[in-house]
Amino acid sequence: METATMKTAMEFLGPDPLTGAEGTRGVHWLRREDGDRLWLILDKQGESANTIDEAVLRELDMQLSRIEDEDWRAVILRSAKPSGFCHGADIAMFRDLEGSAELRRLVDEANAVIDRLAALRATTVAVVHGPCLGGGLELALACDRIVARDDATMGLPEVLLGLHPGLGGTARLTHRIQPLEAMKLMLTGRTVKARKAKSLGIADAVVPERNVANAVDAAVAGKLPRKEGGLVGGAMSLKLARKALARQMRGETAKRVPERHYPAPYALIDLWEKHGGSVADMLDAERESFVRLLPQQTTQNLVRVFFLRERLKANGKGRSGVSHVHVVGAGTMGADIGSWCALRGMRVTIEDPDRKSLARAVKSAHKLFDRKLKASADAVAAKDRFVPDTHGLGVRSADLVIEAAPERVDLKRRIYARIEEEARPDAILATNTSSLDMNELAEGLSRPAQFVGIHFFNPVSRLELVEVVRHDGTGDDAFGTAQKFVGDISRLPLPVKASPGFLVNRALMPYLGEALLMLDEGEQPERIDAAAEDFGMPMGPIELADQVGLDICVAVADSLARDLDKPLPPMPQWLRDKVAAGDLGKKTGRGIYEYGSDGKPKKDRVASPPDAAMTDRLVLPMVNTVAAALDEGVVEDADSADAAMIFATGFAPFRGGPMHYARLRGFEETASVLELLEEALGDRFTPAAWWGKAT
Ligand code: NAD
Repeated sequence: METATMKTAMEFLGPDPLTGAEGTRGVHWLRREDGDRLWLILDKQGESANTIDEAVLRELDMQLSRIEDEDWRAVILRSAKPSGFCHGADIAMFRDLEGSAELRRLVDEANAVIDRLAALRATTVAVVHGPCLGGGLELALACDRIVARDDATMGLPEVLLGLHPGLGGTARLTHRIQPLEAMKLMLTGRTVKARKAKSLGIADAVVPERNVANAVDAAVAGKLPRKEGGLVGGAMSLKLARKALARQMRGETAKRVPERHYPAPYALIDLWEKHGGSVADMLDAERESFVRLLPQQTTQNLVRVFFLRERLKANGKGRSGVSHVHVVGAGTMGADIGSWCALRGMRVTIEDPDRKSLARAVKSAHKLFDRKLKASADAVAAKDRFVPDTHGLGVRSADLVIEAAPERVDLKRRIYARIEEEARPDAILATNTSSLDMNELAEGLSRPAQFVGIHFFNPVSRLELVEVVRHDGTGDDAFGTAQKFVGDISRLPLPVKASPGFLVNRALMPYLGEALLMLDEGEQPERIDAAAEDFGMPMGPIELADQVGLDICVAVADSLARDLDKPLPPMPQWLRDKVAAGDLGKKTGRGIYEYGSDGKPKKDRVASPPDAAMTDRLVLPMVNTVAAALDEGVVEDADSADAAMIFATGFAPFRGGPMHYARLRGFEETASVLELLEEALGDRFTPAAWWGKAT
């Protein structure tokens, strides 16, 4: 596919194969005349992928004004980038805008260009391949016809940034396809592949590269009919029908996200309900609504999260060269890590002295491949790549060995001695330990420079963050390769210094511990969970403790209490008794909550709404611990720490991360609330030294 795409880009940039004519190149757009047709080819200067920003739109505007004076039968938009048609509007455009007047100007000018494209006399065709997302799709939607190459993916994912489309997408998509389908796509931010896009009516044709020219011919000749919205679409022009459906949509959305934390989907529903009957009205109202949403704190924070993700991604940029991973230990984590690596294209061998664990690992890996890859040839290939290795022979040829054996120093050291003897001299040895001292584990190794921590979170398929841990003797090469490996398997690497609990578990434990202590004081578990959920956590701390496993919580809390100077909330005796009795949480069907066959906790009604003091008592210890970790240099800076907490724990993304939350609240104010909590509840709340140094 890559080669075919490269060829396409070259074809457009080189001379026309028939006439020998060169296109004329602007900065971001290439113009090529082709009989009675004009090709406008987007090739954003200096970037490997196209995005839309002011400069791209201004140049397009100049092209359009020239086209208006000319007499073309058809204008065809295409991308010269192998990476796709267009990834969307450049998010940086929306950052640091000075005031609403500038925003309004930007939005109006951008829309004027798209509207101008939509109003051209000539037949307009967008030929799209790869990602055609957000602003990119809005550009395509302004064309009369869309020809999708078979590798295209299309969608309007703005809602994930706390926005809705703002370049006419809400109006044009709801009028191009069945409005309910359009709303569903925009409300979830889901992207669809080319064939699905065609069946929905977004694309008018789906073709392989070799048939693009024919499809364009058909579009220009008016022989590519557009799928109409049908009866349902027609009914949606009635305000009453939209009103009823909007109510339903609000109900569905409320199940996922509350309006006070995520206003964008609700604004989108309002927009469609009030203006969905007319494209022109909806275009106007979309701009108003977009300009209202963008400056809101939620949106700004979600845009910030987008950049935080990019930042973590950059840590793992470049190829690691790892293609064979050997996993030692096929328990909860080993099985999960191994199957994820195989899903992402690595060859995986996995060993465990317990054959039952190995068999379970194979079963769960196959389940993952079937779920993610359906019953395709890719799923079969992934199954072939995941090899149970009863004798541990894979260690000899692996590029990377990941140990995920039980959390005991003596056992892990024995395993390392064998691995170092059998593995290739250049192989990297990694441990998934959560709580053991990496420097202690490194003692006695013959190649300590090649030893790193690669600490995954459970479940690997859902939690994107991976802490890459450096002990005192880790070499730069191994540390860099480990981060790239994490990037290779589409996870987000966070470099951290070896220290108790690294960053995430260390910050999470005071939060969980405080919740358990509240429970001990007689607080209702549902109310504690509600306090955290109201703050915006995806799940309350009590439910989270059950999900992580009460045994693991106790083990991590004990080891942190041993290794850190800072006092932690003591683990109550009843919790230890529960663990001893085998009530470990969700995995055993009973923990603090009881679990039904659907895997959901049985919760009572919240007795009374939680108050702000409860939320502070839960959230501020986590924020304070991140500050302490920053002070000790465990993690590089506050932005990385924010990113880590969001991508490993789901820390309320719309708040932009724990340190950003503290920044908005005021560092001084945060420290003084911690002081009050310290007075009332003890020295576990003592503000970290970092607050005094923060500006
Ligand atoms: P687990 O008990 O589920 O699995 C451990 C596996 O190792 C078992 O299948 C066991 O049979 C096997 N094993 C025992 N001795 C072995 C040996 N000599 N060689 C190879 N395999 C051996 O444990 P887990 O929860 O998967 O944890 C594994 C590691 O991952 C630990 O270091 C833990 O701290 C860490 N970790 C766990 C979690 C979690 O949520 N469970 C999260 C992150 C990290």
